[in-house]
Amino acid sequence: MRMTEIKINGIVQGIGFRPFIYRLALELDLKGYVLNSSSGVEIVVDGSRDVINTFINKIRSDHPAAAIINDMSVSAKPGEGFSSFIIKESLSNKGATLMSPDLATCPDCFQELKNPGDHRYNYPFINCTNCGPRFSIIESLPYDRPATSMKTFPMCSYCKREYKDPLNRRFHAQPVACSDCGPELVIIDGNDEIIDEDPIRKTIELIKEGKIVGIKGIGGFHICCDATNTEVLQRLRKLKYRPHKPFAIMIYPPLLQNIVEIDKDGWDVLRSPVAPILILPQKKTSVISPLVAPDNPYLGIFLPYAPVHHLLLSSSLPYLIMTSGNRRDEPIASEESELKGLCDFFLTHNRPIINRSDDSIILPTKYKNVIIRRSRGYIPKPITMPLVSVPTLGAGAELKLTFALSKKDSLFLSPYLGNSGSRETREFYLDTLAKYKRWFKIEPELVACDLQPDFMTTRYAESLDLPLVKIQHHEAHVAAVMAEYQIDEPVIGIAYDGTGWGTDNAIWGGEIFVGDYHKLERYYHLNYMPLPGGDRAIKHPIRIAFAYLTAAGIDTTFLKNLQEDERILIQKQLERNFNVFNTSSLGRLFDSVSAMLGLYPEITFEAQSAMALEFLTSGILPREQKPYSFNIGESEIDIIPLIRDVAADIKNKVDQRIIASRFHRTVVDFTVEAVNNIRKSTNISKVVLSGGVMQNRLILEELIRELRKNNFTVFFPTIIPANDGSIALGQVVLANKRI
Ligand SMILES: [Zn+2]
Ligand SMILES: [Zn+2]
Repeated sequence: MRMTEIKINGIVQGIGFRPFIYRLALELDLKGYVLNSSSGVEIVVDGSRDVINTFINKIRSDHPAAAIINDMSVSAKPGEGFSSFIIKESLSNKGATLMSPDLATCPDCFQELKNPGDHRYNYPFINCTNCGPRFSIIESLPYDRPATSMKTFPMCSYCKREYKDPLNRRFHAQPVACSDCGPELVIIDGNDEIIDEDPIRKTIELIKEGKIVGIKGIGGFHICCDATNTEVLQRLRKLKYRPHKPFAIMIYPPLLQNIVEIDKDGWDVLRSPVAPILILPQKKTSVISPLVAPDNPYLGIFLPYAPVHHLLLSSSLPYLIMTSGNRRDEPIASEESELKGLCDFFLTHNRPIINRSDDSIILPTKYKNVIIRRSRGYIPKPITMPLVSVPTLGAGAELKLTFALSKKDSLFLSPYLGNSGSRETREFYLDTLAKYKRWFKIEPELVACDLQPDFMTTRYAESLDLPLVKIQHHEAHVAAVMAEYQIDEPVIGIAYDGTGWGTDNAIWGGEIFVGDYHKLERYYHLNYMPLPGGDRAIKHPIRIAFAYLTAAGIDTTFLKNLQEDERILIQKQLERNFNVFNTSSLGRLFDSVSAMLGLYPEITFEAQSAMALEFLTSGILPREQKPYSFNIGESEIDIIPLIRDVAADIKNKVDQRIIASRFHRTVVDFTVEAVNNIRKSTNISKVVLSGGVMQNRLILEELIRELRKNNFTVFFPTIIPANDGSIALGQVVLANKRI
């Protein structure tokens, strides 16, 4: 007999795909079987050509929303006849399949969670084929219960019945569980003593009393406290050595509109299975403590996405700080022991977190939502590249650390791994890399890294016995965005960034390139300014301001907040040219102007002073202001006239908001003029925007608007971050084009 074999590759496991196939086969009266293999899903059916065509069309059109079909092959194969349609045991074979990201609690499970008549009423681990943990609980593929952290919880008869019923929502839902058989919550104090009370009720009570509770979630721990309680926030900021960096808050959905401005699109993003943090304008009427996001008109907010969150939040406790459970810039914790001393209590449970990931962050703009951190809910979904690669490791940079592994045209970006070169980050990096290699069956034959010699990732790449390609940081930024849009032709590539090692050993970050993957030529850059003391100056923008003004021959006496000893130190450093770097970084220009205005002489988190400068413009549109002066030369954009104008405005006591707005206007203007010049001599009208500065909403939106007005086609990062979180992608693409 002739059978039809259908092989499907993509995200087809752990999202109710086999039950869907089963139901479809019953509906069409097809006989045969379906199974999960490590290369996807395989179906063998016996039936007439017409019915099988209908079957295939319906697979394409009606598949579960969370499924992604990359590839479907149909072939004939000989075989015995079947008497029914069944779901067979999983096969382990050579190909690799994809893994579903973690999915937020679905509406059906939420209803059951809140329904006193339901078997899983108030059960904090409720899930089904449409929702629940995936990436975070998986040890190996194919995705089956014994290959997850649910393997130690044998199903009770109730759960087993649902698990085995092809028509049930929990059919083959691997993490299925109930209070009779599944994981359990427990509340413990700082000395690991179990408190023998209802864990949810007790946690709510403790948070209301102003305690800090570590809460074990999906991708790791959150550190949680009441977001309206300034006293506990003061304590938390001290404990975390985090004086200013904003905290994200989780909000009880019915009260969200009391806190932030949100539109329908915003709601859709928050309620999606990804359930990311969304950065939204805070309302004047908000009751959130000002310590949540000091001097910041925006709030990072998200909705409950795990059952335990739904149980904690209510109208009587609607606003919770839910910040990643880590020590400063370190990876997120998966065990309470890592957070000793940071939390008073822990709400924890006995389902291990196998794979850690932080919450993802989205920034809405006038044009499209852009991603700031691509982690839980997105990973490990692959990105399609505009080329067929050899198996390649993109080692990444250092801040917003991520690596990338590629196979053919698919690229797997790691979760956000940390923000430092520490031992913990390195361990997490190596551990996650080993897993990615195993899961996706990728053994790199090529490695790409940054030019910066001191990065942990550079040293790691050099230690491998593989062909190595070093990729300039900002070329990687531009290439990452080109890859997002599958562009394979010459572009004008703008990389506006903090810092990245240049090919001339200067620190770059205000670059405009022209070219394609083979060669990106640096066409324009901001003129070099002196950056004293490298990284230390970056934490003290006032020193950068002093150095810039001094180099430009501008009187510095108006500078506030510069200590006399600092002045002497920097002065000497500049005179002797000791440990002074040349930099073309636009990020540093933001820092410098911000410090000239007296905003933050010292910063406590990356981009703090640039953000302050953006926020200072509040409501004063740059395009309605006059630009400051600048000169565009042969290859340099001279910003000294701009600095001189800013200094003059400050001395003339011009409103600071106007100065900030004129500064933004000037950045947009010199960019548009430079890009126009390039088009004149090259005829290229595709412009790519990249680099950390593109997280400045004002700069991004105004650039898009003005460039489009000038008839440029503009590409900006949306599914990958503009910041260093996408460097690894650019590295892989360029390395493959250049070997
Ligand atoms: Zn569900
Ligand atoms: Zn059960």
